[in-house]
Amino acid sequence: MALIVQKFGGTSVADADRIRSVARRVVATREAGNDVVVCVSAMAGETDKLVGLARELGGDQPTPREYDVLVSTGEQVTIALLTMAIRQLGQRASSFTGAQMGMRTDASHMRARIESIDTEGLRAELDAGGVAVIAGFQGIDEAGNITTLGRGGSDTSAVAVACALKADVCEIYSDVDGVYTADPRWVPSARKLEKISYEEMLEMASLGAKVLQIRSVKFAMRYGLPLHVRSSFDDSEGTWVTREEEVMERLVVSGVTYNLDESKIRVRGVKDQPGIAASVFTPLSAAGIVVDVIIQNLSSDGSTDLTFTVPKADYARALEISSETGARVGAEGVEGDEDIAKVSIVGLGMRDHAGVATKMFNVLADERINIQLINTSEIKISVVIERKYAELAVRALHAAFVPAGAAEPREE
Ligand code: ADP
Ligand code: ASP
Ligand code: MG
Repeated sequence: MALIVQKFGGTSVADADRIRSVARRVVATREAGNDVVVCVSAMAGETDKLVGLARELGGDQPTPREYDVLVSTGEQVTIALLTMAIRQLGQRASSFTGAQMGMRTDASHMRARIESIDTEGLRAELDAGGVAVIAGFQGIDEAGNITTLGRGGSDTSAVAVACALKADVCEIYSDVDGVYTADPRWVPSARKLEKISYEEMLEMASLGAKVLQIRSVKFAMRYGLPLHVRSSFDDSEGTWVTREEEVMERLVVSGVTYNLDESKIRVRGVKDQPGIAASVFTPLSAAGIVVDVIIQNLSSDGSTDLTFTVPKADYARALEISSETGARVGAEGVEGDEDIAKVSIVGLGMRDHAGVATKMFNVLADERINIQLINTSEIKISVVIERKYAELAVRALHAAFVPAGAAEPREE
């Protein structure tokens, strides 16, 4: 007998039939002798609809507290419906909102961080033979305000609860049947990975692979909790996210990812002298804006350019702040560009392979794609390119680095 946390994403609970089929799966898992906690997202499209309404009535920056009160309602609908469907099958079950399960977070609305979970109520439900159905994405701060964990946050709710309950596994059910070497929507020839290390999954998630929210992978890695990403439409084995030692297959590149949610800012013609980077980035970080790729050119005439990327959601504010800073430090100009994409290759195998970056640049050159910015770490290389080439770049890189049907463990 195991303790299993099952998380179902929006497409898995999109309508009454799908909720019924989730209920059947949950009950089958329970009847096989396991303790089951189920975490659900809002029905597909529901959160987007609520966000749209918030913008319509609350402007570009709706009041964060009210935004959270609103967007958290989607999950409250699904926990109630799923619990009813489970009970219809003769299985005891109870629903829990974020507040009811003591999902305590900090007070940063719209991107709250989990601080603690009071598992007593969930345990009591399990001890009584029931299934605990919990709302993903939402929590409650110290003052009792409803908070949300950021888009895709139900993954993090599920994994955090699994860690708190010391579950044996957290199963993430979605519309894909596992983690692929690239987003299967863009690369039909992408293949499913049997296993992937936490480190690689973390990079892939932070570089745009939306199949798991980054923070859920961080949690799982910290607690050594195995994640099983699988399809809610069939029983096939999905992808296990686990420790590096357990991943047999050693691909140099295990994933190609893209991120369309960043934009670029260039502060042109600033003096090449100590303190300039600090003056540009201090006001941005003070405003809570996270800067990603940064490039500073070498100067030949005593002046230089600083170029960096920020999330699209923060673009307008970042441009305004950078323009003020630019004027203050005597920059020649400050320009922004939202029409960009960041495309990355990820793989633990890169650590001990030379020439991966060169190969990447050659592949892009062959497609006549201009590279605007480059960023590397031990296990990833990212390039920023023009948005319209993103799909072409992802496909070309996938074809070059992940040979089709390579099912055997292999070394390059
Ligand atoms: P859910 O609503 O179940 O949480 P998401 O839409 O958040 O589902 O995540 C699943 C989607 O992630 C897939 O439909 C797929 O298009 C996308 N995706 C992006 N990159 C990958 C990848 N490398 N492997 C699998 N899916 C990916
Ligand atoms: N419903 C939320 C969203 O769409 C949380 C989630 O689905 O993970 O972002
Ligand atoms: Mg998701």
